[in-house]
Amino acid sequence: MKALDRLRAGYQKFCDAYFSGDNPTFKELVSHGQRPEVLIIGCCDSRVSPSIITQAEPGELFTIRNVANLVPPYTHEEDTFHGVSAAIEFAVRHLEVEHIVVLGHSQCGGIRALMENGILGKKDSFISTWVSIAESAKNKINEAFPQLSLDEKCHLCEQEALQISLNNLLTFPWVKSKVEAKKLFLHAWHFDLDSGQLTEFTPETHEAKVLYHYSK
Ligand SMILES: [Zn+2]
Repeated sequence: MKALDRLRAGYQKFCDAYFSGDNPTFKELVSHGQRPEVLIIGCCDSRVSPSIITQAEPGELFTIRNVANLVPPYTHEEDTFHGVSAAIEFAVRHLEVEHIVVLGHSQCGGIRALMENGILGKKDSFISTWVSIAESAKNKINEAFPQLSLDEKCHLCEQEALQISLNNLLTFPWVKSKVEAKKLFLHAWHFDLDSGQLTEFTPETHEAKVLYHYSK
């Protein structure tokens, strides 16, 4: 129960900060509704909470989290459940966010599962089907850098998979049309847990820009 006690205490602090005194945050969010400008698609990893690492305020980020922060391609198969696609649709078509950030990270267990082999093709694993979204990234890294260690390949695959997710976002017709009209902008970020470095990738030019690097 210690873990939950810690969370209950955290919730008390949250209430003290946002519901007591004159803090208008939730009064405004309740009376005006949410109007986030950013959709962030991150990993489930407990170390990579988008709100914590960006210090976002309530109402600022519309957030989707899944294993390995992947975006599936657009499809209209009616016999499956499209949780990620539904959330993207809500953010883009109803909330009209202006930016979508796909946030990858180092030490990603989902990407490692993909790179280690073994998981792909497993019939009894949801993870297997899910991470296969990034299978072409894995193949590309393996072909281009066969000499690298598994850790190094994983690091590169985390970044290559971001490109796949950006490409897949453009397969959603209402994302593509808004991007072309310059009403919606796509971004790829990679957070390095070891160094604290956040890198922004520019998909068109394959440029990488370090946004921030923590130095002691
Ligand atoms: Zn991850």
